[in-house]
Amino acid sequence: MMLHGKGGGAKTPRGLTPARRAALDILTQANRPVGAYEMIDLMAAAKGKRPAPVSVYRALGYLLDHGLAHRLASRNAFVVCGHAHRAEEPVIFLICEQCGEAREATSFGLTRELAGLAAAAGFTPGACVVEMVGRCERCAEPEGVSK
Ligand SMILES: [Zn+2]
Ligand SMILES: [Zn+2]
Repeated sequence: MMLHGKGGGAKTPRGLTPARRAALDILTQANRPVGAYEMIDLMAAAKGKRPAPVSVYRALGYLLDHGLAHRLASRNAFVVCGHAHRAEEPVIFLICEQCGEAREATSFGLTRELAGLAAAAGFTPGACVVEMVGRCERCAEPEGVSK
């Protein structure tokens, strides 16, 4: 078990304030990438009160820092972490351009390769998110056309 940074390093940190928990709950329920503005709307709908954008960004930043969620740069959206892994481990998102599903994967081989690449460059890696765009299993099926 690796500890990292500010106190603890456990998967469910104690510092989950109501705003952070609300953000995490929304991402978990959505189960798909959610943009920051949509997050504000969903929070407003859940609480009946519109949160200040800065507090939403702070909550999201916390989730990212603690490996509870990831940021998809290509869609400027946030997605709940699909499985337990170390915060510094590279993650690969398989993003379906048709239905928008974003599936998370990790790869031991890729993790090792990237660590070696960074070390060779004298680079200290932070978060690493690889985004692969294509078609998910469902959407690639020829029968699954119209609904
Ligand atoms: Zn993850
Ligand atoms: Zn799809």
